[in-house]
This record gives sequence, structure tokens and C-alpha cells, in this order.
Amino acid sequence: MATFLFPCTIFGPVTSRRLGKSLGVNLLPVDCKVCNYNCVYCECGWTDYSGKVSLELPDREDIYRELEERLAELNSRGDAPDVITFAGNGEPTLNPHFPGIIDDTILLRDKYFPNTGVAVLSNATTCGDPEIREALLKVDFNILKLDSALEATIKLHNRPLKNVKPKRLIEDLAAYNGKVIIQTLFVRGIVDGEEIDNTTPKELIAWLEALEKIGPSEVMIYTILRDTPPGGNLVKVPVEELEAIALMVEDMGINTQVSG
Ligand code: SF4
Repeated sequence: MATFLFPCTIFGPVTSRRLGKSLGVNLLPVDCKVCNYNCVYCECGWTDYSGKVSLELPDREDIYRELEERLAELNSRGDAPDVITFAGNGEPTLNPHFPGIIDDTILLRDKYFPNTGVAVLSNATTCGDPEIREALLKVDFNILKLDSALEATIKLHNRPLKNVKPKRLIEDLAAYNGKVIIQTLFVRGIVDGEEIDNTTPKELIAWLEALEKIGPSEVMIYTILRDTPPGGNLVKVPVEELEAIALMVEDMGINTQVSG
């Protein structure tokens, strides 16, 4: 199984399929994943919902210090990242200091690399929270997940800790008034004996209707890159199919980015 955890709080720069040269910030523990989703394709492995995992989240001061050290070092050798990306071992907005950390990051970005973007990759479950929303609206790339607009599929693909109601989620995403990039991972396969496929006509109709309501600035369309956790038997969706899906989104006047 090719799952992995980021062993530190600040990592990279790494080359991101979607964002370019990316300096990563992991707001979760370094020894386990913390997420309120348990996606079938998660590269960090299964989520432990038992409550037994470490909840030692890095604090705001430590992140500020580590990020400043790293940015100063990159600056001293003229090595500008394209983007500072909040990703890592789970859902970044679950760190209770997330809003303040975003403010700090924007300050540090402006000091060391004013042309570098700040990106957040989030599963969108907290995007309706007023404080999280305010923070997400400050970043350059507010990238929120919507793998399906159907409740049963979200249950199968993302396996949320608490039920996610697509209607509410779509309303929360639409409230960003276009200052949001939607990321959707398309995948097929069998997981724990159940067939999954979010590329069927029924799925795509519901997903395109959701995009129409949300009106994102862009849609990032991708598929799995690496092996998936045990119990999974997932296959990549061919890039030609991803491109055909992207064309339907482009027809609605929304930009797309495809990573096969
Ligand atoms: S939302 Fe992201 S971190 Fe959480 S389970 Fe899904 S892929 Fe993994």
C-alpha cells in the first residue's frame, strides 16, 4: 500500500500536479491523519474515527516560526514557490487556529514572496462556518472538494464522520459567490464489496447542476495517482474521459483544469 503521512509541519517545495512548485503546510499531527472524511482514495490511509488518535495539532506560534524560517531560507537563495499550500495529514480547517494561521501566512507571504499564492485544499465540510469562510475568502486559491452531489455517493466515496447533506453543502459553496475552485476526483472500482463510480450519467447530471448553482471560478478534475488503501480496488478514470467531462463544464462557461 502506497499511503504516506507528511512527517513535518512545513514540507517541500514539492511539485504539485495542479499548483506548480508548492511549499506545503500541514496543520495536522505528523504521526497520524485527522479528518472528518475517510475517502476511499485517501493517500494518507484510512481515517481512525475511534477518537484514539493523537490530537497534538501544531500551534499557531510554532507554525509562524517554522514557516518564517523556511520562507527566509528560500528567499536567501531566490527560490520562490508558486504557492504556499495548506494540505497535509487530513483536513486543515480542523485545526482550531486555522483562521489566525491564514492571517499569519498572508503576512509572511507578503514579506518574503509577494507574488506567491496561498492555497487551501479542504474537503468543504466546514466551509459554512463563518470564521472558516472569512479565512478562506482571504486566500488566492480556495480549493474545495465536491466529488458528488448525491448523498449516497458521498457516503460511499468520502465516508464522512457525520452525514453530509449535498443541498446544504452546495448552498454553502454557492455562498462564496464564485471565489471558490471546486476539486472533484473521479474514480471507479469496488470498495468493501460495493461498486463505486462517480462518472455515471446520473452522477454527472447532478454534479453539473450543482456547479451551475455554485458558479466556481474553476473546476479541477482529476483521478487517483497512486495505490489506494487496503480493501480498495480502484481504477483511474482515463484522461480522455476526464477531458470529456471538462468539456461539459467549459460549455457552462467555467474554466477547468484536468490532471489525468
Ligand atoms: S478529505 Fe482529504 S484528507 Fe480527508 S480523507 Fe479525503 S482525501 Fe483524505
